[in-house]
Amino acid sequence: MLDKLGEGLRSALKKLAGAGSIDKAAVDELAKDVQRALLSGDVDVKLAQELADRVRKRSLDEKHKPGQTAREHVVRVVYEELVRLVGRGGEIPLRPAKILLCGLFGSGKTTTAGKLARFYQKRGLKPALVACDVVRPAAYEQLKQLSEQVHAPFYGEKGEKDSAKVLRNALQKLKADVIIIDSSGRDALDSGMVNELKTLNEIAKPDERILVIPADLGQAARVQADAFQKAVHITGVIITKLDGTAKGGGALTAAAVTGAPVKWIGTGEKSDAFETFDPDRFVSRLIGWGDIQALVEKAKEAIEPEKAEQMMGRMLEAKFTLDDFYEQIKAMQKMGPLGDVLGMMPGGMKIPKNVDVGKQEGKMKRWKYAIESMTPAERSDPSIITPSRILRVSKGSGVPESDIHELLKGYEQTKKLMKQLGGGGMKRGALANLAKRFKGFG
Ligand code: GDP
Ligand code: MG
Repeated sequence: MLDKLGEGLRSALKKLAGAGSIDKAAVDELAKDVQRALLSGDVDVKLAQELADRVRKRSLDEKHKPGQTAREHVVRVVYEELVRLVGRGGEIPLRPAKILLCGLFGSGKTTTAGKLARFYQKRGLKPALVACDVVRPAAYEQLKQLSEQVHAPFYGEKGEKDSAKVLRNALQKLKADVIIIDSSGRDALDSGMVNELKTLNEIAKPDERILVIPADLGQAARVQADAFQKAVHITGVIITKLDGTAKGGGALTAAAVTGAPVKWIGTGEKSDAFETFDPDRFVSRLIGWGDIQALVEKAKEAIEPEKAEQMMGRMLEAKFTLDDFYEQIKAMQKMGPLGDVLGMMPGGMKIPKNVDVGKQEGKMKRWKYAIESMTPAERSDPSIITPSRILRVSKGSGVPESDIHELLKGYEQTKKLMKQLGGGGMKRGALANLAKRFKGFG
């Protein structure tokens, strides 16, 4: 259901969930991806643009709630804006009512009449069906059969061309809680249909005037919804055939912009392929909200603020031994792929294109083994590590001597970097700031 629309949105959100840092560039990219996904899912051009703008603005301007990471905030904004886009759901009172169905040929009115009958039956109300489609000869039989399938009373007059007369008679004869009136469609909106609907509307004074609109109508849905709205003032929309289209954004948003709530959706030809429309649940399912949230959670775990703070603190201590380097390597490995870890660092460090991340990760593993083969004295004062000691460590750990040389060089470089960061102008306050920045990411 709505595969194309859903997939586009899911991949946009997944990309953000896994992004290195949540900065302006990442938000911009997300907004563009979401807009593209909406457009390819047939969402109205203007609405897609507005949504992207709001996502951009809210993501960057709104202060996020305490305990919420920037990533969670942005994902939540997209979710909320999508719910806003598909419109509010309609309340469905379970009490006696008259319901007039309207829509063009083939939109699914008659099928939906049967589905509605079943819907109310299941909730303890007694429905009845009225065949007021006098244009299509087969419509009478179709509705009669449906009524037999769902065991609901039926009223129709075979061959009668005056729908107003059929309706008057039906209202007199039928004893039911919910009277569902099927009406004639046309190929296109014309005055014949509008007048007929107006007459039926005056006679029945229905509680609900429902527009039945197929999901695959795309962008044209907006114009149709508006026209029906003008003709009979629709109180709700039913979107049918959501199972049969990868897009459907047109029908969804068109309904929303007319101001009439989507009340039900049809998801198949059978009578039970029908459900009430809940914008939250709908968007949740569309974007795979559970999966996205799991991804966001994972990004959060990868670098816990406390761990980052500890590590930064140790890194900035003047004394930096191989033991510390070892802990650092281990922490990095636990955090996940090197590329992601660097991306989560303040400023969102990027790995240069010519660096092979896989190779780096392999090297870190070997460095870890080598350090594990060293004596405590060697670890706390690497300056005592002579070539003969290197040979011993190499034999003990199975790590080539060349790697151990590189390890010692890497250690020296890191130590120098730590000194620069910690020794020079960097004060404790600056460290705290750095640690705070860590918390903003993730
Ligand atoms: P009407 O002309 O508006 O009364 O439309 P119908 O009720 O006769 O439906 C037209 C076609 O659409 C029929 O073949 C139905 O089986 C089919 N249809 C209606 N609703 C759905 C739906 O939700 N999903 C699918 N797949 N088909 C539907
Ligand atoms: Mg019909």
